[in-house]
Amino acid sequence: MAEGLRWADLAGIDVQRLHGVGEKRRASLESAGITNLLDLLTHYPRRYLDRSREARISELVEGEEASILVTVVSTSVRQLRGRRVMVTSRVTDGESNLTLTFFNQRFREKQLVAGREAIVFGKLEYFRGSRQMSNPIVDLVGDKTGRIVAVYPQSEKAGLHTGDLATWMGEALRRTLPPTGRGLVDPIPEWVLDRIDLADRNFALANIHQPEEMAAVAPARRRLAFDELFRLQMALVLRKRALARTEVGIEHRLDGPLFEAFRASLPFDLTGAQRGAIAEIDDDLAKPYPMHRLLQGDVGAGKTLVAVAAMLRAVDGGHQAALMAPTEVLAEQHAAGIRRLLGGLEVEAPGSLLPTRPLSVELLTNRATTADRKRILHGLIGGTVDIVIGTHALIQDGVGFSSLGVVVIDEQHRFGVEQRAALRDQSYGDGIPDTLVMTATPIPRTAAMTVYGDLDVSVLDELPPGRTPIVTKWVEAPGNLEGQPSMELSMMWAEVREQIAEGRQAYVVTPLIEGSDKMEAASAEEVYEALRSDELSGLRIGLLHGKLSSVEKEEIMESFRRRTLDVLVATTVIEVGVDVPNATVMIILDAARFGIAQLHQLRGRVGRGEHASTCWLVGETTTDDGAARLQALVDSTDGFELAEVDLDLRGEGTILGERQKGRNDLKLASLRRDRELVAIARAVAVTIADDDPFLREHPEIASELELFLDEADAEFLLKG
Ligand code: ADP
Ligand code: MG
Repeated sequence: MAEGLRWADLAGIDVQRLHGVGEKRRASLESAGITNLLDLLTHYPRRYLDRSREARISELVEGEEASILVTVVSTSVRQLRGRRVMVTSRVTDGESNLTLTFFNQRFREKQLVAGREAIVFGKLEYFRGSRQMSNPIVDLVGDKTGRIVAVYPQSEKAGLHTGDLATWMGEALRRTLPPTGRGLVDPIPEWVLDRIDLADRNFALANIHQPEEMAAVAPARRRLAFDELFRLQMALVLRKRALARTEVGIEHRLDGPLFEAFRASLPFDLTGAQRGAIAEIDDDLAKPYPMHRLLQGDVGAGKTLVAVAAMLRAVDGGHQAALMAPTEVLAEQHAAGIRRLLGGLEVEAPGSLLPTRPLSVELLTNRATTADRKRILHGLIGGTVDIVIGTHALIQDGVGFSSLGVVVIDEQHRFGVEQRAALRDQSYGDGIPDTLVMTATPIPRTAAMTVYGDLDVSVLDELPPGRTPIVTKWVEAPGNLEGQPSMELSMMWAEVREQIAEGRQAYVVTPLIEGSDKMEAASAEEVYEALRSDELSGLRIGLLHGKLSSVEKEEIMESFRRRTLDVLVATTVIEVGVDVPNATVMIILDAARFGIAQLHQLRGRVGRGEHASTCWLVGETTTDDGAARLQALVDSTDGFELAEVDLDLRGEGTILGERQKGRNDLKLASLRRDRELVAIARAVAVTIADDDPFLREHPEIASELELFLDEADAEFLLKG
């Protein structure tokens, strides 16, 4: 048998080699991102028309959407008032007729010439007794020798129609696949295909475009989606290994006195999850190459402690550690908390009068005075500052370290990859520092594998003991509190008063700062006034939002912390990091305007102390998804579980965000639908990399990766 074609070979064949693709067609294809056969063959159908189960016009039901194959009888244009036009097209299925009307779509006149076949998708209406569809979706049909017609994403602007695409696709498939073509070599080892029941690649490509029967589409799709996920995972796994090979890190010592002293000083036992994460991190720290690890854990799971443990390992070996937080408030809170945890610890001070000196923890933000800043920078370069906590100020010019050993990034989804790298690259004195990224917004495991696939992941999936789970209730009432308060609402306010009478405190969160004509949503200012004069009159209420100066914000937060305020009405500025263990009530107004992750974060502001806490979600929902979101919060306090629900409801776009850049090889695969495949692809990639780290035995896989990596990347990943 002749050698098969590689994926990369397809990328080397210009679409112009196909019949009927001249300069002009080539240009339109190019504008749709298609220049070679690989682009064309991975331009997948968006749906299929199963002609064996085709409806007839006479069977259509008024008001219902349907897809139907028709032939154009005649098309005309009429000028309406203003500059509007109406195109009317009479079509038939051979038995009955249907009128299509289009407003302001003049191109339909040229598209729907008499005799053309088209698939129209729309809602049937009756107009003056005859059947019509207005503004239906139209796909022109070309090659329909098959029983099932693939409908391609098309571009009206570029003049690309699904019919043309199907014709070219047919030719490309004939040239590529057996019996007329050489067929594609399969880069995935046969034992893998068997074990995980994946279809053959030739079969997959043929059946995604020209399925013999609808039942063949699913296995074809599964195979091609697997290939996409596999390429991505393979690249991520190889990147991790290449970094391990090429980056010189610091082999931290794990037997230092500071860590032990710290551990002994803790008034509580570490949770099993904390011990597990610390062990994983220790393992990384001792290795000669740098750690790249993500620490995922719900609010309150005790991530700070794990991070502190890692930082102390650095200091134990005579290095420094840095923690970067996204906001000044958060950096200040971290600094205060960490100083409390580490107070009393001493480090060796060789060359000075006394044998030891206090461990030095400094805070560096843009609020630092010039003198403080100078002193801290001096200490960082001189090695007398052991741990520095700060904001972006840490990655500004002029900041240098004596020997930075561990970097912790409290990400909260706010730092990009570049900023992380900037801090890591500060000091190469003794090697590249080990990096730990903390995130309080759990993301599903399979998504983490893709979004953070080049990081190792540790999970804190256990809360410290003694916490009473937060009880969450959903009150269906207008989120802006307008109208006659319902029984449930009155009971809610009564309970708030009761809690406050017992010495607790409450948050009331609103989506807006001030009232708006455009939106009915609750605003902090209006709610503040209303509660003061009515539901919560007589209580000490504060107002906190992003328009206040940072001094004002700090004053109000401080009063709340000192308990000179009972209630804090706030916007989501309190979302991140505010820690007042005495607060036990969280009321979120217009809750349906927030996403699951944000509601979960907000709720995490309570339940931080010894007292039982309640979270009230107030709001009405207009969609099923909205109701499902709020109900999910009522049903679960587990951030990982909620993340899965979120992925189901919202899809993956929100999760991928920035990190998705450059990952657009995923045309078919979806992190939501293909969770199982992501994990399988990861496992296969790891197995292959273990066995053959430079893909020397798997040249077909290597050549596929080279296609979507840039040259420098491919060189880095694949050369030993
Ligand atoms: P996170 O950063 O994950 O939100 P923190 O590290 O801020 O959580 O911890 C939340 C609270 O729990 C802190 O007050 C911390 O002192 C406490 N804590 C952490 N670990 C434990 C533990 N093992 N047992 C009891 N309390 C703990
Ligand atoms: Mg924290």
